[in-house]
Amino acid sequence: MKKYDYLIVGAGLFGATFAYEAKKRGKSCLVIDKRDHIGGNIYCESVEGINVHKYGAHIFHTSSKEIWEYVNTFAEFNNYINAPVAIYKDELYNLPFNMNTFSKMWGIKTPSEARTIIDAQIKELNITEPKNLEEQALSLVGTDVYEKLIKGYTEKQWQRDCRDLPSFIIKRLPLRFTYDNNYFNDRYQGIPIGGYNQIIEKMLDGVDVWLSTDFFELENREELAQKIVFTGQIDRYFDYKLGILEYRSVRFENEVLDCENYQGNAVVNYTEREVPYTRVIEHKHFEFGKQPKTVISREYSSEWKMGDEPYYPVNNDRNNSLYEEYKALADNTPNVIFGGRLGQYKYYDMDKVIISALDTVKKEFNE
Ligand code: FAD
Ligand code: UDP
Repeated sequence: MKKYDYLIVGAGLFGATFAYEAKKRGKSCLVIDKRDHIGGNIYCESVEGINVHKYGAHIFHTSSKEIWEYVNTFAEFNNYINAPVAIYKDELYNLPFNMNTFSKMWGIKTPSEARTIIDAQIKELNITEPKNLEEQALSLVGTDVYEKLIKGYTEKQWQRDCRDLPSFIIKRLPLRFTYDNNYFNDRYQGIPIGGYNQIIEKMLDGVDVWLSTDFFELENREELAQKIVFTGQIDRYFDYKLGILEYRSVRFENEVLDCENYQGNAVVNYTEREVPYTRVIEHKHFEFGKQPKTVISREYSSEWKMGDEPYYPVNNDRNNSLYEEYKALADNTPNVIFGGRLGQYKYYDMDKVIISALDTVKKEFNE
């Protein structure tokens, strides 16, 4: 007799949502994680009384009322709205690209003045069908915004020329002709008051959890449960036998500063090429903190190599088709469910991960 119904590999949002829902349905679960804490990449570490988003800034946003209500059963959310600013040399602009940005850039006031300037710049470029990120960005916002706010940042972020990047990357940024600095278009947005850990803690309440436990080093791993839910790297599960899926990684340089307010905003992007980091996060502003000290993280985008933390899947043609081959293997692996951003090699926002976990639950329990 196997001890558990499910062995869930990964105590991140996908694994925890699945465990919570399976337990609700009377199933027994064991959750393991190779890290020494639960939460996966949404984990927060308390430093000087500030919730530091250890694996990168996380802002919850969704258009789904159902998902918003679901997460609110695990934590109370504040009314934080993400409104980053961008620094280019000695100039400061609001993001995303909106009337505040255009007014500062050209000294204009009205949407029609902004449109006229952008249209004139676009017309000169003569781009009919954008073939890459550079052409896509230029044909959306014109030369000035591209040169000051997109080119340097994007090339730092991806360590590739903008002409060698796919256009869809830039399409997720809003472009507005209103004075609205909200970085997201979603209806619901906020940060859990007290940080993200409580969500995972509540989801895993009453579930057995083994930390600092790597699935691949676990003896009798196939004997522990009837089924496995695997949220680690799919290529690793199959021993990389078809090849290695590539990622981008990020290095965080954290600093505690002896001042109450360092940059006046949670997120400040540095868009010129010469500044080596992409952005600086001041964590306390996510929760309107008033602590006497502050914690900042400078983010350096880095090339991923085996053993590094995999952050962003590189969804180019090569990796996408390799993933499809691994998925075919996964589909033929009975009793293992692959989920989450590593198991499905997909850039998933938090709301999408929860949606995907809930869909998996429905399928698994024939609902
Ligand atoms: P993860 O959180 O990665 O969890 C997987 C877990 O599996 C990890 O804890 C890992 O240690 C464990 N694991 C892996 N292999 C093994 C193994 N062999 N044995 C045991 N355990 C293993 N989303 C938003 O909605 N808003 C944001 O602002 C946002 N910002 C982000 C910023 C960054 C830098 C990144 C990288 C992501 C961001 N996201 C954001 C996305 C968000 O992090 C994910 O949607 C979410 O964390 C995915 O949950 P998951 O459970 O799929 O994966
Ligand atoms: N981007 C940019 N300038 C900025 C912010 C973003 O050019 O100041 C571009 C960049 O190409 C980036 C993309 O927009 O990869 C998506 O930005 P987002 O903030 O969504 O990036 P992520 O949250 O994935 O780091």
